[in-house]
Amino acid sequence: MTDKPFKIIIVGGGTAGWLSAAFLSQQLPLSSGRDIQISLVEASDIPTVGVGEATVPSLRETLAACGISEIDFLTSCGATFKHGIKFVNWRQPPKENSGESYFHPFGAPLKVGAVDPLRAWSKLPQDKRGNIADIFSVQSEMAEMGRAPKHLKDRPYDGALSYAYHLDAGKFAEYLKQRFRAQGVKHIIGKVAEVDYNPSTEIISALTLDDGTKLTADFYIDCTGFAARLINSDKQNPFIDKTDVLFVDKAVTTRLPTKGTASINGFTTCTAQSAGWIWDIVLQNRRGIGHVYSSKYISDAQAKTELASYIGQSEDALETRTLNMRIGYQQHQWRGNCVAIGLASGFLEPLESTGIYLTEMANWALADMLPRYMSGHNPQAQYTDAMVHHYENIVDFLKLHYAISERRDTPFWRDNANPDTWPETLKANLKAWENDVPSVYDFGRSIQCFSATNYQFVLYGMGWRGHEEPNVLTGQTKNLLEQLAIRRARLKEFVLRDTLPNSEIFTAITPSN
Ligand code: FAD
Repeated sequence: MTDKPFKIIIVGGGTAGWLSAAFLSQQLPLSSGRDIQISLVEASDIPTVGVGEATVPSLRETLAACGISEIDFLTSCGATFKHGIKFVNWRQPPKENSGESYFHPFGAPLKVGAVDPLRAWSKLPQDKRGNIADIFSVQSEMAEMGRAPKHLKDRPYDGALSYAYHLDAGKFAEYLKQRFRAQGVKHIIGKVAEVDYNPSTEIISALTLDDGTKLTADFYIDCTGFAARLINSDKQNPFIDKTDVLFVDKAVTTRLPTKGTASINGFTTCTAQSAGWIWDIVLQNRRGIGHVYSSKYISDAQAKTELASYIGQSEDALETRTLNMRIGYQQHQWRGNCVAIGLASGFLEPLESTGIYLTEMANWALADMLPRYMSGHNPQAQYTDAMVHHYENIVDFLKLHYAISERRDTPFWRDNANPDTWPETLKANLKAWENDVPSVYDFGRSIQCFSATNYQFVLYGMGWRGHEEPNVLTGQTKNLLEQLAIRRARLKEFVLRDTLPNSEIFTAITPSN
């Protein structure tokens, strides 16, 4: 074992670069037992994407692993709480004056003791089922009430609701930069112009910046965004394109002021459009809105028109940014002594907020596998396999939202309904779910973003019928559903007692509001 510090260079100063610097500077010395020196290089003239505002609950553990307290994060990053996602107009095209919706909450469906009543419930005829999120969870009701998932003070029922955050991406990267520079991460401004890469060993020996400075390290992390400047420096790393399954490839975004803390709603709204969907996220001081669409089906101008119509403003008054999105992932996520994280590793449309999640998962896996690499092993293939599984798990789940929609109003929706565009794994699962509910055994691994509970909420939220059977409820299962209703009512009572409205929390922690 050497006493020399292990040197890492991260290239890229977006969310992926700074979150990796934060996480690895805290976790890698612990997992490897070695001193770690981290430098982060970023080009001053290549902007970050600056979007990425909705997250999933894993971020709470990731922030804790970086040593960041929740209150510090909330106050520094304009962040708000997120109970889940409200999907509007996904099942049917919008009818006049009505937007049908369903909710995908973060917490798992409620059980009765150890017994899961979902199978019994799924046997009910559709008109007797009611809305899954309202029956198996209190979360959508709390979200609609503008209730935070917690109190400012510790309470017994803190933790009854799983939750994530909405955050200001610019403030988040800046917060991490200030904090972790002060804790020893070296910050270098410069553009990587050359990568000294040996194709036979797959080892990077040095980076040359555009001013001629040469930088060397034991390990390199590519966080250069869609450029993927290091992981694909030899142009030999195939990109696994997923646009044949997930059609959206562009976004037009805007920002609006909020109307005080009373408008903080605690969920992401995703409203389906003619060839994509619009996200609507309320932060402490502004609303972030973006239309994600497929350039194959509508033009940029049409996308902007739909965005303006959603907001209810004239197009001319709307300041927007248009972004291209490369949908898919690098075939090799870790080559030699370089790993790609963030957009450099890949990207899938942000419908279920998985961008930052993938950065988190890459870091958790690295903290585990880099110590092996340091001691002479080659975990590259194992790491890549784990990350590819994350990507494919997300692809299936995203496609589910389109595949089971009853919308046939535009070519985009009709093509999405064509099983030829569905992954084989999703096709097989949908077949199995014609007669039964999604089960954990349908999903291969223990670490993945989406498993049975997520599928249950989306599948039945979208009105999935499967092969409806006549009402086969026995007295026993009826009793189970009655007990479920009692449990839910009791939980609601406790949660209402032990949480505060968002407006109260954010007025208290951000005095400027
Ligand atoms: P970038 O932000 O692009 O940063 C790249 C960095 O690399 C920059 O600092 C740049 O200067 C530097 N760089 C590039 N080339 C060089 C070079 N040669 N030398 C030196 N430096 C270089 N994620 C979520 O979790 N939730 C969401 O709701 C969400 N919504 C999204 C919506 C859209 C439309 C898009 C496109 C993405 C969204 N994401 C979302 C993903 C999220 O934005 C990204 O995961 C996140 O911002 C990380 O970006 P990044 O740091 O990898 O890349």
